[in-house]
Amino acid sequence: MAGFSSSAYKGNHGDLAVHFIDVGQGDCALAVYKDYTILIDAGEISEKSKVITYLRSLDIERIDMIIASHPHSDHIGSLSAVIDRYGTDLLVIPEVTEEMTPVSSSFENMINSADKCGAELRFAEVGETLSVSEDFSIDFIAPVADYEDLNNYSIVCRLNYGENSFIFTGDIEEISERDIVDSGADISADVIKIAHHGSSTSSLKVFLQSVDPDYAVISVGSRNDYGHPHEKTLDLLRLLEINLYRTDYHGDIVIFSDKTNLTVVTENKEVPFDVYS
Ligand SMILES: [Zn+2]
Repeated sequence: MAGFSSSAYKGNHGDLAVHFIDVGQGDCALAVYKDYTILIDAGEISEKSKVITYLRSLDIERIDMIIASHPHSDHIGSLSAVIDRYGTDLLVIPEVTEEMTPVSSSFENMINSADKCGAELRFAEVGETLSVSEDFSIDFIAPVADYEDLNNYSIVCRLNYGENSFIFTGDIEEISERDIVDSGADISADVIKIAHHGSSTSSLKVFLQSVDPDYAVISVGSRNDYGHPHEKTLDLLRLLEINLYRTDYHGDIVIFSDKTNLTVVTENKEVPFDVYS
């Protein structure tokens, strides 16, 4: 595993660690709360050994809950392999209309793997909160409507631990962000996983202001084909004075919570670039 020794993120910074695992152009986040684990996406299939090695370095034996934000391969490509290796109790996917249901092999394989290990398959239920303990819960916020693009069906969810919270946005674009704001849901969070790798088609100002985070994470591959993250998003994050971490610059990013305070630890300590450009 590149760079990051497991001792670096087993420090005494609190009982919740949220790992943004660097899977290049894709998303993969892992929340570890005591011995309860939630995996949100797992990158392209080409990243499966990176993800499995990372999980192994944390001595993880089983993943309690997997959230597949939406059925695109840069989010779910490795999930089949991860489920085959680790098993899971619950796989949460977004409910999409029949004509939007994907026929991709990454989607089929993920469902088959979940089936094989006996996992419960559940659609994300907007407005539902799953409580893991008195202090740790997960809210399901979106998708709140039907769309013409799978990106907008991304599950938006918020992890809450004590006074701290983390919101995950998959690849939602402006239309879904607008619908979420209009829904009146409480989306305030200390940390946001910026939507769609920092694309200019996401991150409306009103959405970011509603979340009002201290920290933003962009999960993105260096020199990717899409030009992500786009200047418009970076300029807005700078304008709103949100501390930015990016997997293309910082590598793996871990944010710890002790219910009140957040501590950020990154694989690459020295980032000799302006993170907003
Ligand atoms: Zn994506």
